[in-house]
Amino acid sequence: MQRGDGSSFFARMDCLSVRKDGATAGVHIVLIDISLSRQAEEELRIAAIAFEAQEGMLVTDANGAILRVNKAFTAITGYTTEEVVGRNPNLLSSGRHGKAFYAAMWEEINRRGCWEGEIWNKRKNGEVYPEYLIVTAVKNPDGVVSNYVATLTDITMSRHAADEIQHLAFYDTLTRLPNRRLLLDRLKLALSGSSRSGREGALLFLDLDNFKTLNDTLGYDIGDLLLQQVAQRLQSCVREGDTVARMGGDEFVVMLEDLHEQDLEAASQTEAAGNKILAALNQPYRLAGHDFRNTVSIGATLFRNQQSGVDEIFKQADIAMYQAKKAGRNTLRFFDPEMQARINARAALESELRAAIDARQFRLYYQIQVDSSRRVLGAEALIRWMHPERGLVQPVEFIHLAEETGLILPIGEWVLETACAQLAVWQAHARTRELSLSVNVSARQFHEAGFVDLVRVAVKRHAVNPMLLKLEPTESILLENIDDTVSTMNALKSIGVHFSLDDFGTGYSSLQYLKMLPLNQLKIDQSFVRDLESDSNDQAIVRTIIAMAHSLELEVIAEGVETEEQRQILLNEGCHRYQGYLFGKPVPIEELDTLLRRDG
Ligand code: C2E
Ligand code: MG
Ligand code: MG
Repeated sequence: MQRGDGSSFFARMDCLSVRKDGATAGVHIVLIDISLSRQAEEELRIAAIAFEAQEGMLVTDANGAILRVNKAFTAITGYTTEEVVGRNPNLLSSGRHGKAFYAAMWEEINRRGCWEGEIWNKRKNGEVYPEYLIVTAVKNPDGVVSNYVATLTDITMSRHAADEIQHLAFYDTLTRLPNRRLLLDRLKLALSGSSRSGREGALLFLDLDNFKTLNDTLGYDIGDLLLQQVAQRLQSCVREGDTVARMGGDEFVVMLEDLHEQDLEAASQTEAAGNKILAALNQPYRLAGHDFRNTVSIGATLFRNQQSGVDEIFKQADIAMYQAKKAGRNTLRFFDPEMQARINARAALESELRAAIDARQFRLYYQIQVDSSRRVLGAEALIRWMHPERGLVQPVEFIHLAEETGLILPIGEWVLETACAQLAVWQAHARTRELSLSVNVSARQFHEAGFVDLVRVAVKRHAVNPMLLKLEPTESILLENIDDTVSTMNALKSIGVHFSLDDFGTGYSSLQYLKMLPLNQLKIDQSFVRDLESDSNDQAIVRTIIAMAHSLELEVIAEGVETEEQRQILLNEGCHRYQGYLFGKPVPIEELDTLLRRDG
């Protein structure tokens, strides 16, 4: 620029700019020309102070050779003045930006006279860091670029600050739980994860009952204490991998993942988790010297098959939560009314099942087993529940629940006792002395520590020939802890009892495992017998099982034999023992006696 007296000077560049973060960044005044006028000296002094600003500064000549840098520049980059003067600023390049990036930068500097933006540079120690850079072209009175001025701000945040920001963005400050945003992220992930794995997930929406009253009476500080303690209790109720989040106020969400594939099973797992939460939050609180009790209402929904997205899932859980409030609070409700009904029915069944043991509502039915000349070899004991209102309940309706709840242990004990008592009765009569009795045992019973003793005591108490007692585990006992299974079976074998492997062919038995077990018999599952006449696959399977039994020197029996044709095919394949409606349905002991007298 030209002064009045004709001497030239560098005036400020009015290239005021606004950064992405909203702060206004002025473009700095740099005077390169050294005029000796007083005013010029004054400006020079100001410029020198401005030059030593907080931001790093660098001045180059028109060719890009560095003329000066300030102290902040050295602090940021690690390079001293001596190290950089005369060199090109590209010594700071990190290598993270391509040619096109720099070309665009220079194009803008040439056109507008300045460029600004975020850029990755490299310090002397090799560390790559992000900086905010403003480059300004300084022109002489003829409009020719004489210098370039760059200001650079280190925008690396300390790790701590970054973590803190991350925490603020995704976590609730009061409870340190994930917030709504993080929960939404996780729910989206969980949704795609569960549709991939086929395993259910559940969202539980929790709202504290009467939280407002606490806030109103004891104040917000005490309210905050309660929320913190609730958060802790919730976390102690869930498994690793589940999420507890705070939505705000007194609303929390628990997300359960990796639940059972079947919705009813998953719902009952969800209910169990919900009950645990209800119990935990029902415990008294101690809040800064005040004793306090509180409850929570929970709404739940399963989410695996939800096409409608996360908002819908939240809405469902929220609606269910209001149903829980309406139902009197301190309870859990499912969004799906049908699911709620099934869960209620199951809960009712469980409590009735519990009572049935003491009320002696179980009976054993007996189904005969015969050989190829229809001679009765023995029977299988099959449990029935004589329900006071529902009448006769089949085992399919309650054995599974009994296994899940552990009620199978007392039930199984009763079955074993009753079966041994029956064997003792048979033993006392010549006609029935040789009959064997098969008793089903669940994997749960089998893996129970006291099972071997239970069998030993029952056999002893009733003084029965242990060889006539045939335990019928299914292949599922091989699923967990095979070593344990083998040693349990060997201990039982030493008592003298026999084994028949039930539902054979439906499980996972490998020949290798079978060889390890002290089995006496394989029982061909009825699903292979059902269509034996028409299905060549089933014929092949049955043939293989029979061959397998023979090569392992085991007896083989077929269950579910309903027709003479089925019996004939089995006989032709080498199976000489049968059980099924063709010979007799499971019947109470009195009817079995009649049957035996008739046949005997
Ligand atoms: P399972 O041990 O495989 O018993 C055979 C099932 O097939 C019995 O059903 C029997 O009634 C049925 N069945 C027998 N012959 C025929 C036939 O010709 N056709 C057809 N369609 N079915 C036939 P049930 O009595 O309903 O028992 C079902 C399952 O419940 C049993 O299967 C067993 O796994 C379990 N169970 C029964 N009693 C007990 C018990 O005391 N303890 C345990 N842990 N489980 C038991
Ligand atoms: Mg059986
Ligand atoms: Mg079976």
